[in-house]
Amino acid sequence: MTNILVIYTGGTIGMKQHHETGVWQPFNFEQIIEEVPVLKKFGFTIDTLSFDPLIDSSEAQPSFWVKLVQLISDNYTKYDGFVVLHGTDTMSYTASALSFMLENLEKPIILTGSQLPIGMLRTDGMENLVSAIEIAAAKENGHPCVPEVCIFFENQLFRGNRTTKDNAEQFKAFRSANYPALANAGVYIKFNTPVIQYPTQWGKPLKINTHLDNNVAVLKIFPGISQKIMEGILNTNDLRAVILETYGSGNAPTSPWFIHTLKQAIDRGLILVNITQCAAGSVEMDKYETGMALKKAGVLSGHDSTIEAALTKLFLLLGKYKDNQTIKNLWQKNISGEISLI
Ligand code: ASP
Repeated sequence: MTNILVIYTGGTIGMKQHHETGVWQPFNFEQIIEEVPVLKKFGFTIDTLSFDPLIDSSEAQPSFWVKLVQLISDNYTKYDGFVVLHGTDTMSYTASALSFMLENLEKPIILTGSQLPIGMLRTDGMENLVSAIEIAAAKENGHPCVPEVCIFFENQLFRGNRTTKDNAEQFKAFRSANYPALANAGVYIKFNTPVIQYPTQWGKPLKINTHLDNNVAVLKIFPGISQKIMEGILNTNDLRAVILETYGSGNAPTSPWFIHTLKQAIDRGLILVNITQCAAGSVEMDKYETGMALKKAGVLSGHDSTIEAALTKLFLLLGKYKDNQTIKNLWQKNISGEISLI
């Protein structure tokens, strides 16, 4: 007998328009179930849990991820899979965080939501919810088809820590530019097995990491960036790591003041990592002089990581380890399928 737990955290999927202001607000979960009577047609148990308070996902914080991870962990042995209903705005951050916080994961955690509330006629929420449940329940030879943290949206299943929300009004709201879809839902749900991660050995107990350190800043490089701005950010009290969002394959200006400012920060003990501003592709600091200068200064490659995965990976590593060298070594490793290493 299959058991699925649907956790509703908030987001458009369960919102209703306020009768006076017309503003969309999270609504109670029982209403969602009423809107989707087909849920009763699944031949297995679907239990539901609702967050209190429900949040618009723009309010998501590390403490929210801890609460979610704790909830999944408390219910882990009772269910075969989990569906998390979540606002789209920060869904990729949550999926990335969960992928690092849930160690030895052997069950599907499928995040989904919608661009239109489930009560509206043209909603995309119905299809997203029903398929997400089907995917969370899917098994092959007694094992889940996708034992990963994923996002299902508009017919595609993506590895969560490879996604970014890239559209605020199309039903196809997410992209996974550097990693193929794990499944496509048409008439059949077709799993792309070769790109799905399976445990090397089944049966390990779930381990959760709930200590996150958010002393991280994101510094986007732009033509005209000044030393004053750079120093302002790099000298922030208690800051431990900075993600540089650079151009193209990891390039940035080579002006002596620019490199010197970064070098000084690294010498003071800051961890600097390099992520591209491009929607797709990877950092390759050996390719151009402008990337090589960063590497020589001690900036670490972020490979083809999304910003969401880079940020939450640093939160986790900084929360878990005090020693910079350990963090730097682990940063370069693929922990949860978040980067492609050649
Ligand atoms: N603001 C909403 C949220 O992220 C948008 C959505 O659900 O799509 O909670």
